[in-house]
Amino acid sequence: MSFSCKSMWNYKCPKCRQGDIFDKPLDISKPVAMPKECKYCGLKTMPEPGFYYGGMFLSYIIGGWMALLPTLLLVFYFKWTVNQGMAFAIVLVIVTYLPLLRGSRSLWLHLMSKYDPEAEAKAKDKISKQKSNASKEWKPRTKAKI
Ligand SMILES: [Zn+2]
Repeated sequence: MSFSCKSMWNYKCPKCRQGDIFDKPLDISKPVAMPKECKYCGLKTMPEPGFYYGGMFLSYIIGGWMALLPTLLLVFYFKWTVNQGMAFAIVLVIVTYLPLLRGSRSLWLHLMSKYDPEAEAKAKDKISKQKSNASKEWKPRTKAKI
């Protein structure tokens, strides 16, 4: 199985499952800012213009069902009024907007890209080398005992 829910959920690269597909930290004015390519395996995050058009449809479908089902449950089972149900749906859509936007992009990229175990091994190797280099860097001395 080449699809990984864990890497999709954590916004990791679908090819190597190590690199981030969104810029970190999250800039609220650019919520879907992505690096041009994965820094470990080089997978392009925007393979062609309009690539995330399909992701937009995914977010529409998922968001619609995600708002509709709990609202119907509240109105028909818990006897909420329709206005209360609509208010709940609007709040739910506002709260889940950002995770849904990013999640649908991540899902679309994972559906359209192939997992490569060799790329994952190379990426892990790169990461371990970076960590060992970081430990060799200069560190301030601790205060001498008086
Ligand atoms: Zn990658």
